[in-house]
Amino acid sequence: MTQQELIDIAFKASENAYVPYSHFPVGAAVLCKDGSVYKGCNIENAAYPSGICGERVAIFNAISDGKRADDIQAIAIVAHGNTIAYSCGACRQVLVELCHLDTPVYFSNGQTTLTTTVGEMSPHPFTAKDLD
Ligand code: ZN
Repeated sequence: MTQQELIDIAFKASENAYVPYSHFPVGAAVLCKDGSVYKGCNIENAAYPSGICGERVAIFNAISDGKRADDIQAIAIVAHGNTIAYSCGACRQVLVELCHLDTPVYFSNGQTTLTTTVGEMSPHPFTAKDLD
């Protein structure tokens, strides 16, 4: 699967976003090495902190189906903003925990695509090692 195909799946997932408050749909797609793809979209709530970001929905879908960091090949995260919508801090922390630091992450707003990695997004991550 190409980078653009994964981005297209993420944009398709954004169509299911539940965003009555922000009106800012986000989509995500996690590509696994076996070819499976797990989608996510942001899901808001009147009690704002009860909502969740699209990339966390996608990665949690993968994890809940038994996938682990070794299985994940790449992640696409997209939104139709004027700029690239980078992941929030909570999502970066989750990606550090559940992916490898060199896992590629593709961001797109439909006009510009940026490729980075989980580690580049979180250069000084807090991990299980820090609990020792
Ligand atoms: Zn987030």
